[in-house]
Amino acid sequence: MQTIREFADIFEKVKAGVRLSEADGRRLITSKNLVELGAMADFVKKKRHGRNAYFTHSLNVNHTNICVLACKFCAFAKTKKDADAYALTVDEIERRVRVAAEHGVWEVHIVGGLHADLKLSYYEEMLTRIKKSCPGVLIQAFTAVELDFYARLEKISVEEVIGRLKNAGLGGVPGGGAEIFSERARELICAPKISARRWLDIHKKVHEAGLHSNATMLYGHVETPEERVDHMMRLRRTQDESGGFLAFVPLAFQPDHTELSHLARTSGVTDLQVLATARLLLDNFPHIRQLWNYVDEKLIHVALEFGVDDLGGTNFDETIAKAAGSEAKGFTYDELVTLIRACRLEPVEVNSTYTAIQKECLVACA
Ligand code: SF4
Repeated sequence: MQTIREFADIFEKVKAGVRLSEADGRRLITSKNLVELGAMADFVKKKRHGRNAYFTHSLNVNHTNICVLACKFCAFAKTKKDADAYALTVDEIERRVRVAAEHGVWEVHIVGGLHADLKLSYYEEMLTRIKKSCPGVLIQAFTAVELDFYARLEKISVEEVIGRLKNAGLGGVPGGGAEIFSERARELICAPKISARRWLDIHKKVHEAGLHSNATMLYGHVETPEERVDHMMRLRRTQDESGGFLAFVPLAFQPDHTELSHLARTSGVTDLQVLATARLLLDNFPHIRQLWNYVDEKLIHVALEFGVDDLGGTNFDETIAKAAGSEAKGFTYDELVTLIRACRLEPVEVNSTYTAIQKECLVACA
């Protein structure tokens, strides 16, 4: 293994299982010493996951692009008056899931805009119908921002929303809507959205209800490297309390067609600094996920050496990153497996609870 010199003190902590500090995280996230960052992150990743690289064969459904908010980084949301605004019927969603399940998809991810005319009963019916048609499909759906919106619309508690959706078939909650927790940066890019505190509190309630969730971080816009570390530290503290996060999912900002289109895309250096720092700092998150549609293909190969153990889903029908100009071409199931093998890793198909799909018996991979 690469000799660690600049970060020898941090690597001693890592090897001894001593938790890194916020100051350590700040040193890591601004370092250009990618060789040492990658070596340390890969050491931790391999200790936890060996040669496994996880992925999901999944369908993405964005049930509506109509949204009452207008976050500055978002190229997906429309108003009801826009010509390309849409809201899918439950029939159409059920049809899409059934077709995908016939092609071997085991998981559906459902997120959408905040549509004031869609009642909680629409979401309950959606989940119930999917589970009836395709009982083996795991449904990961509705960000904390959406759960909060349904609660306010129905004038009920978010706990009740989570409970009713769980009864209808909800299998887990995705990590979207976290954006960046820094109040300063949040005010600049998505002022009307729920606060960082509310987002974290809703995830705690999701975990209390017996469901797992993920956590994203949108980076590469107006935030500072220190605010990225602050975001990770808030997640780590929350995870210490509730323990229900499975994956940390950094999302590189895609500026096209947004109000922040003047900003440049992130560099590969920044992407790798974020991934390696996350793997080293977030010692209580089992998985670090790099979604293939947020970086280019060659960086995915490198990311798998920088702490990433999960490439996310095949994501049929993904529209949110595409709307913001993501040029990632997308992968079929076979292409994703080939990519992972080309990195001399072992592809392991899982659902978002990290239950292996194609093994003799179902094995938890956390
Ligand atoms: S990011 Fe989500 S909440 Fe914000 S405008 Fe887009 S769809 Fe609406």
